[in-house]
Amino acid sequence: MKDRKNAIMVQNRESDCLLELLALLCDQKPTKKRHGKKVFPNVPAAPGMPCAGEDRSIYRRGARRWRKLYRVNGHIFQAKRFNRRAFCAFCQDRIWGLGRQGFKCIQCKLLVHKKCHKLVQKPCSNEHVDPIEVKDDANGESTLGRASSVRRVSAEELAPAAETPPAPAPSAPAHDLEPGSQRQYSLDDFELIRVIGRGSYAKVLMVELKRTKRIYAMKVIKKALVTDDEDIDWVQTEKHVFETASNHPFLVGLHSCFQTPSRLFFVIEFVRGGDLMFHMQRQRRLPEEHARFYAAEISLALHFLHERGVIYRDLKLDNVLLDHEGHIKLTDYGMCKEGVRPGDTTSTFCGTPNYIAPEILRGEEYGFSVDWWALGVLTYEMLAGRSPFDIAQAADNPDQNTEDYLFQVILEKTIRIPRSLSVKAASVLKGFLNKNPVERLGCGENGFLDIVNHPFFKSIEWEMLEQKQVVPPFKPRLEGERDLANFPPEFTDEPVHLTPDNDTVIADIDQSEFEGFEYVNPLLMSLEDCV
Ligand code: ADP
Ligand code: MG
Repeated sequence: MKDRKNAIMVQNRESDCLLELLALLCDQKPTKKRHGKKVFPNVPAAPGMPCAGEDRSIYRRGARRWRKLYRVNGHIFQAKRFNRRAFCAFCQDRIWGLGRQGFKCIQCKLLVHKKCHKLVQKPCSNEHVDPIEVKDDANGESTLGRASSVRRVSAEELAPAAETPPAPAPSAPAHDLEPGSQRQYSLDDFELIRVIGRGSYAKVLMVELKRTKRIYAMKVIKKALVTDDEDIDWVQTEKHVFETASNHPFLVGLHSCFQTPSRLFFVIEFVRGGDLMFHMQRQRRLPEEHARFYAAEISLALHFLHERGVIYRDLKLDNVLLDHEGHIKLTDYGMCKEGVRPGDTTSTFCGTPNYIAPEILRGEEYGFSVDWWALGVLTYEMLAGRSPFDIAQAADNPDQNTEDYLFQVILEKTIRIPRSLSVKAASVLKGFLNKNPVERLGCGENGFLDIVNHPFFKSIEWEMLEQKQVVPPFKPRLEGERDLANFPPEFTDEPVHLTPDNDTVIADIDQSEFEGFEYVNPLLMSLEDCV
């Protein structure tokens, strides 16, 4: 369909001096492939208009990250990671260390510690604040942001000025380790077979591990995208959650991680049946029995993550995969929040617009509730064949075609449940889509038990389900292990190669950020050795 619209990450309102400016971090260049193909064969009446029969509410939405800006004394500070040679203009000490303890004024370039930024007395010498405006981004999507000035900032951030040169690229992986010691992997160990998916951060390939001839998926992320981001911790989080996920039948597990000077690679389980977006685009809407099965398996996956202190935060059709039997598997842990204990909250503004819970939009502290909201949106999409916040009719009115408008709809509009749905289905949707997280299904005192006991899920035998003992209602059509019939041709037709490294891009990457990324899952390794 159209394109991968965007999950956004807006660092949030935890600070009282946070400026309500949300600056667009990545100016995404749409790729020809990603935007060129339409599922509907028709020609639109005019460019940008929907084709006859085109439903705009079910289409891929990729990721976009936003960063937060803090205004103090005319300065507009943005978090930045520094290396050794940066000094704080307030306390004169070095700004150095893990995390993002440094702040830099995007106007006068003043450098300070995060802890010192509120104390800065010296006014900004170069105060010039562009008005916040609604700008169309490259996709023709409207986004809130100061796009032009922010692009300038991003470019500067990519070229570190008077700071130490980047650390040397990681050394080549050791192929010839002693028998029994842990083997590291490298790109040479894999044959790249096909492109199978894309998000905004990653390209995902089907690959073969040459030694065993086993098939895996390989999620490839350009380091430049990561270092261009205020919050690089998400890579670490994604890796941790992949590790945790390796222990659950409904989560995509990790085989190994490695890197080249320009890229990070996650080798993960290949899930052959494609994603729910692919199937929904072909089936339009699902029978209640099917939606119930998927929603129940997804609930178990979410509950497993929640029990381990992880909020998933990016549940959507394109992150739910089907395995060869038709069981679900969640993938893509780039938006997860780790280390959340029961009752803990967080406040980062993030997610994919159509799935963002009202409490996030209201700027409130939130917890696991946001995942149950997103499950409500996704279940609605499965049952109704469209989003509950379908503003497709509004596409021709530019005022109603913005992210802001979508957020307003999510916050204020009463959700209408199609009359064709059963009473129980309507009830579960209303339960998950309660705009008040305290009253939402799954968020009360009984937590997950309320979902398990909901009448909509009455026919589910939860223990059997978790053991994968329930036969899925739909089996993806597959002819052999390498069949890619369930992946969109817009991806599988792409050339599979990775573009050669660009020296100037690599020179700007601080390789020390990625030290220790390498990983081999001991469990999968021993399985492989049995082959
Ligand atoms: P991003 O973080 O950029 O959104 P994802 O991890 O979601 O990237 O991957 C993009 C797409 O690739 C997914 O929507 C899915 O269609 C496909 N994909 C991802 N992981 C796998 C996998 N393990 N097996 C099969 N397909 C996958
Ligand atoms: Mg994704």
